[in-house]
Amino acid sequence: MKALFFPRITRCENYEKKPNDEYYSYAHYRNQISIDCQNRCVYCDVNLSEIGHEGFALDHFRPQEKFPALKNDPKNLVISCAKCNRYKSAHWPLDITTGDSHNGAVGFIEPFDFDRHEYFDISETGNFAALQGPSTYLINLLSLNRPSRILVRKKRILQARINLVFDIAERILTEISPMIEDRQITDDVIDKFRQAKTAISAIQTARIEIAKLEANSGP
Ligand SMILES: [Zn+2]
Repeated sequence: MKALFFPRITRCENYEKKPNDEYYSYAHYRNQISIDCQNRCVYCDVNLSEIGHEGFALDHFRPQEKFPALKNDPKNLVISCAKCNRYKSAHWPLDITTGDSHNGAVGFIEPFDFDRHEYFDISETGNFAALQGPSTYLINLLSLNRPSRILVRKKRILQARINLVFDIAERILTEISPMIEDRQITDDVIDKFRQAKTAISAIQTARIEIAKLEANSGP
């Protein structure tokens, strides 16, 4: 399940610069930063398709109000959904001279430098649980367990389950179909056929769960 959330992300090695070796204005880097962040909000992990391609904000990891020198530095830019961006605003609870992004209790986790799975445990129900460092601070400040995000995560988990079980059912049916064509209906073939039926019924159950989630999600 871990593979569904917070992939390891890496930055482009050389962000484009102007002929005079200065960075362009930060908006210039939107596409590259989206690619670097794999089109996901680095805070709540939603991806663009899961929010109807409503668009992401180019977020200054270190807020430009407090770090004006980093305003156009692409290495300070991340992708954030509009709401996380708004919740984060210009928050930066640390002394700006320390260089750190958190002090073990409050602050932010550099998404390119740290494995976020070491900070957040993600349950089957789609909730983030704090593991260490500033995780609790971030869950509260950015409302990372807001209903819309729980819904997205649950759907992602159910869809992954559907894909997995579909592959199992398909493999079993491919395996037994030559025997069925040849009318060699052994106990083993019957057993495998039943396994495929169980898999298909698990897919049905997951589909119903998704439909229920969507029906209860509101506008
Ligand atoms: Zn977000």
